[in-house]
Amino acid sequence: KPVHPDRRPAVVSGASSGIGATTALTLAAAGFPVALGARRVDKCAEIVEKIRAEGGEAIAHPLDVTDQHSVDAFAKAVATDFGDVEVLVSNAGHVSPGIIHEVDTERFATEIDLNLLGAHRLVRAFVPGMVERQRGDVLFVSSDVAVRARPFMSSYAAGKWGLEGMAHAMQMELEGSGVRVSIVRPGPTWSEMGTDWEDAAAGDVLTGWIKFGLARHSHFLKPKALADAIATVVSAPRGVHLNLIEVNPEAPL
Ligand code: NDP
Repeated sequence: KPVHPDRRPAVVSGASSGIGATTALTLAAAGFPVALGARRVDKCAEIVEKIRAEGGEAIAHPLDVTDQHSVDAFAKAVATDFGDVEVLVSNAGHVSPGIIHEVDTERFATEIDLNLLGAHRLVRAFVPGMVERQRGDVLFVSSDVAVRARPFMSSYAAGKWGLEGMAHAMQMELEGSGVRVSIVRPGPTWSEMGTDWEDAAAGDVLTGWIKFGLARHSHFLKPKALADAIATVVSAPRGVHLNLIEVNPEAPL
């Protein structure tokens, strides 16, 4: 399908909950046709229904960013439904907390696979078309942990530091190509993230640490704060590039 100059199909990975789900709703409300991808495609389908009920355009397909076949099948399905993708929001991610010398290397690698290589698989699937058409937006959802490592999140920190390194190199490679590459770096945000930490090796310690941090420093953001930042970045007028936005909770007065 040819792309209408004002029609900008967007892909959101990890769109079944939290920041990704809210970003899909926000982009659709702003007029972007949105393709939602996650492993729990039933949850994505519920969000698609909501978007359509509000007059927006959306589709959902299963996506596991750690599985090359799944990424390829997702990209193919999106191309069939929407044609050329103009906006990629690489958002899928997860933290499995643990004390570094107790986390086995395979589990460490699994987290890098999701938080770093998963983003690269999406780049390989969607960016060549953008470069060819000389238009597009690629946005990586990073984390404040990418620049301020936290205890018990070593593999997550490594993945997100790597993600930002990749994004910065990509920004330079694609400068002047018509494809903008941006990073949105969330601070602590209420989402499904952390709901499985009770069973994790460092779960109790981490939960205590978060409560301590919360009491002392901050409130958590709502996913909508991130969704609005993401929509702002990918809606910036041509000629303007919002390279990096860090979004943090305002400290209590
Ligand atoms: P959620 O746990 O609510 O959302 C994570 C999303 O990622 C889900 O939709 C999940 O869907 C998806 N996902 C997980 N694994 C895969 C996979 N293998 N393939 C495809 N999708 C996957 O957390 P958030 O909304 O908070 O997280 C969104 C992003 O924000 C992440 O990159 C996270 O690192 C980042 N972030 C979050 C912060 C926070 O405090 N919450 C702070 C800083 C950054 P499913 O399980 O259905 O596949």
